Amino acid sequence: MSVWVIAEQRDGNLQKVSLELLGKGKELANKLGTNLVAVLAGYEIEKLAKTLIRYGADEVLVLDHILLKNYTTDGYTKAIEKVVKCKNPEIILIGATNIGRDLGPRLAARLKTGLTADCTGLDIDENSKNLLMTRPAFGGNLMATIECPNHRPQMATVRPGVFPLPCPDEKREGKIQKIEVDLKEKDIRTVVEKIVKSLEDKVDITEAKVIVSGGRGLGSKEGFELLKELASLLGGVVGASRAAVDSGWIGKDHQVGQTGKTVRPKLYIACGISGAIQHLAGMQDSEYIIAINKDENAPIMSIADLAIVGDLYKVIPELINEIKAYKNSCEVVNI
Ligand SMILES: Cc1cc2nc3c(=O)[nH]c(=O)nc-3n(C[C@H](O)[C@H](O)[C@H](O)COP(=O)(O)OP(=O)(O)OC[C@H]3O[C@@H](n4cnc5c(N)ncnc54)[C@H](O)[C@@H]3O)c2cc1C
Repeated sequence: MSVWVIAEQRDGNLQKVSLELLGKGKELANKLGTNLVAVLAGYEIEKLAKTLIRYGADEVLVLDHILLKNYTTDGYTKAIEKVVKCKNPEIILIGATNIGRDLGPRLAARLKTGLTADCTGLDIDENSKNLLMTRPAFGGNLMATIECPNHRPQMATVRPGVFPLPCPDEKREGKIQKIEVDLKEKDIRTVVEKIVKSLEDKVDITEAKVIVSGGRGLGSKEGFELLKELASLLGGVVGASRAAVDSGWIGKDHQVGQTGKTVRPKLYIACGISGAIQHLAGMQDSEYIIAINKDENAPIMSIADLAIVGDLYKVIPELINEIKAYKNSCEVVNI
């Protein structure tokens, strides 16, 4: 009956989404009156189990095997399928990362059950006790809530960044159980020859506390230089709308929205962004939103905590000057 989270680790580092899922998973488990289990697969990763417990897991199933060192669809599916069949969880949550999106459907097909991909909301139906899995559909114009009433486990992949990171509790205790993994080299058809990490200036906008985001209203690639200056003064990073990314002004890594990343910084400054629903889907949970736009009727203005109507090329340089003057005059504020 338990709720499971498949914890994703890369090079021995837990992915943030797995911890976010533990927070949400705990809530679902409490509603069902059951426990929360994390499944941790990899090689020599047992030390991560304690972190999973601190973040909310009641029990951690550790699948440790040399053939699970690198992620492969075959290896991970086979190992996890076996424990699922043996323990029959009620719900399985997986982060919708590149790896999670690969593993989820393969596992669901093996288990002959339903999977909702890329969810942005999860809840338990009070009457049926089924998992309610909500995700944007039709290009984000419709939110679909999907149930899987007749098959178990109910499976969902979940967008990174949509659920808040729970606070770790150093005193929490839980059970760590090692599961024997029966894998042979011939089970794995993929040969991982090399893992190459991009040397590009990669940004992780999902971790930033301040995001200064630019859209088509910037009018050119150079506009981002101005945003970078503002962002660095605030200790933040630069985000973008899809229109700006599609125009080739900035890399896809910076894209916020339904087909980009979901962010929830303390401060989101939207500059020259109209606020299309697909963009809002990725940033509307930010703690404080400032919108700078020429058009007072742009949809972004109605969700902004502070809406500045004006030309961003006038407003931002003034803002930069004010912040510099403030920083010179008194102690630096840590946001
Ligand atoms: C399936 C699908 C997925 C999508 N996924 C995403 C996504 O992940 N992220 C995303 O962002 N979009 C996404 N989109 C696109 C989305 O629908 C919008 O087209 C896009 O967000 C618009 O970007 P924008 O706000 O930068 O541009 P626009 O809508 O063109 O808005 C530009 C704004 O800038 C203002 N402006 C112009 N000049 C100035 C100035 N000098 N000073 C101040 N303001 C100025 C204008 O008033 C206007 O409001 C998706 C669309 C589809 C169909």
